[in-house]
Amino acid sequence: MAQQEEVFKKIVSHCKEYGFVFPSSDIYDGLGAVYDYGQNGVELKNNIKQYWWQSMVLLHENIVGIDAAIFMHPTTWKASGHVDAFNDPLIDNRDSKKRYRADVLIEEQMAKYEDKIQKEIEKARKKFGDTFDEAQFRATNARVLENQEKYDQLHERFQTVMNADGGIDLDGMKQIILDEEIVCPISGTRNWTDVRQFNLMFSTEMGAAAEGASKIYLRPETAQGIFVNYLNVQKTGRMKLPFGIAQIGKAFRNEIVARQFIFRMREFEQMEMQFFIQPGTELDWFAKWKETRMKWHQNLGFGAENYRFHDHDKLAHYANAATDIEFHMPFGFKEVEGIHSRTNFDLGQHAKFSGKKIEYFDPERNESYTPYVIETSIGVDRMFLSIMCHSYEEQKLPDGQTRTVLHLPAALAPVKLAVFPLTKKDGLPEKAQEIINDLRFHFNCKYEEKDQIGKRYRRMDAIGCPYCVTVDQQTLEDNTVTLRDRDTMEQKRVAISDLRSIIEDKVSITSLLKNLI
Ligand code: ATP
Repeated sequence: MAQQEEVFKKIVSHCKEYGFVFPSSDIYDGLGAVYDYGQNGVELKNNIKQYWWQSMVLLHENIVGIDAAIFMHPTTWKASGHVDAFNDPLIDNRDSKKRYRADVLIEEQMAKYEDKIQKEIEKARKKFGDTFDEAQFRATNARVLENQEKYDQLHERFQTVMNADGGIDLDGMKQIILDEEIVCPISGTRNWTDVRQFNLMFSTEMGAAAEGASKIYLRPETAQGIFVNYLNVQKTGRMKLPFGIAQIGKAFRNEIVARQFIFRMREFEQMEMQFFIQPGTELDWFAKWKETRMKWHQNLGFGAENYRFHDHDKLAHYANAATDIEFHMPFGFKEVEGIHSRTNFDLGQHAKFSGKKIEYFDPERNESYTPYVIETSIGVDRMFLSIMCHSYEEQKLPDGQTRTVLHLPAALAPVKLAVFPLTKKDGLPEKAQEIINDLRFHFNCKYEEKDQIGKRYRRMDAIGCPYCVTVDQQTLEDNTVTLRDRDTMEQKRVAISDLRSIIEDKVSITSLLKNLI
C-alpha cells in the first residue's frame, strides 16, 4: 500500500507538472478541495464528457440532453429532501483536531479485514500454483475465517446503525468506532468526540438584503435540474416512456473531509441521466443500465478486473435498488459512478411541493401515473482520476533508462498528433506546419521544435500523445515522415497523404462508440 501511495503522489505531481490539474488559486496557496484544469486537463476532461454525452444522446434515440441552471428555486431542495437530510455523520479527533466522516472510518476498517483476507489468498495462490482452490481455502483457512467473521459482524452492525429508524444511529456509530479501536491516522489516539450530522449544501443569498433577499443553494447534484424539467421536456419533445434526460454540469458539496486530490472535491462536475419508466419495470431497467454502464467503462480497455459493483448497504428510503461502479484506484476500489432506482419519489415530491400535476399519460395503458426513475450518475473528475491512475507508468526501457508515459486511450488523449521538424532549418519547420495546417481540422495537433527529438518524444509520452511525426530531409524529397507509436515506441515511414487515414479512426470518439452497440 505504501508503494501505491507513493505512485499516487507521483500522479498528483505529474498532473500539475504537465498542465492537467492545478490547485485552485495556486498563487494564494490553493483552496481546500477545489482544483483547476490546465491546458491538457481540459482537453482530456472534454473528451471524457464527449464520450459520455455521445454514448447517451447519440446512441439512444430516446435520450435527450438539457443544461439546467446551477441556481434553483429554494423549494427544490426542500422537496428533494436535501435541506433536511443531505447530511454526513462527522467525528473529530480531539488530539489532532482533524475531522473525519464516521461512516468512512468504519468502511475503511471493513476494507482492512478484506485486505487481510486477500493477502492470505494471494500468499496461498503463490504457494500452491495451479492446484489452488480459492473457495476451499476461504472455507477452511483459520486466519481467513477469523477475518471474515470480523468483517461480517462489523458489516452487520454498520448496516443496523445506518438503517436505524429515524435516520442514522449516531451513538451506535461512535460505539462501533470505539469497539473496533479505530485510531486517528494523524494522532494515533482514540480520543473521539460524539458523531454529529453536518449538512453538505453551500448556501448564498439572491438579491439585495434590503429587498428581502432569499437564501438559495448551490446545487449539490445536477439531477434535480432534470426532475423539475421533466414536464417541459416530455411535452415539448413529445417523449414517450421509456425515455431519458441527460445532463453534464457542476455540483457543489461542502465535504467534511476533502482528501485524495480530485476524488473528493467541494466543486465538481457530474454527468447524470434520469431514465423515466413505467412503474413495475424498474428492476429490469436497473439491471439493464448496470450492464450498459459497466460496458461503457470497460470499453476503455483498462481490464475487467479493475471494476466491480458494490451494492449499497444503506438504501435511501425512496430507493428500491442502488449500486456503485467501483474502480481500482491506487488507494483501493472506490466509487466512480452510482446507479440508483429512485422510484417515483422525486417527481412525486416536486408535484406535492409545486402543486403541479407531474404525470405521464400512457396511451397503451390508457391511464396517467407518475413515472419511475433509474438514475446513472458519474463524476467527471473521478473518471478523470481513474483514467490518470490507470494510464500512468514509469517504464523501464531496454537501454536502462526510464520514461514516464501516460497510456491514455487514444480517443481521450488531449493531443493526438505531435509534429516535429528534425532541425529548425532547411524548410523543415515550414513542412511540419504544412502537415499541421492540413490535419488540425480533424484532430488536435501540436507543433514542437525545441530540444532534440528524444526529449520531444518524452514530453509527448508524458501527456499521453499517441502519435508523433518527424519531418526530415527525406520528407522534402519523397513526402514521407517517421510515425512513432507512443506505447510500442515503434517507428515507421509513412506517406504524409496517409497520415489522416492511419490516425483519425484510432483517435476519434466514434471508434469508442462503435464498440458500444
Ligand atoms: P461518496 O459516497 O463518495 O460521497 P456519493 O455516493 O455521495 O459519493 P453520489 O451522490 O451518488 O455520490 O454522486 C454521484 C457521483 O458524483 C459519484 O459517483 C462521484 O463520481 C461524483 N461525486 C460525488 N461527490 C463528489 C465529490 N465530492 N467530488 C468529486 N466527485 C464526486
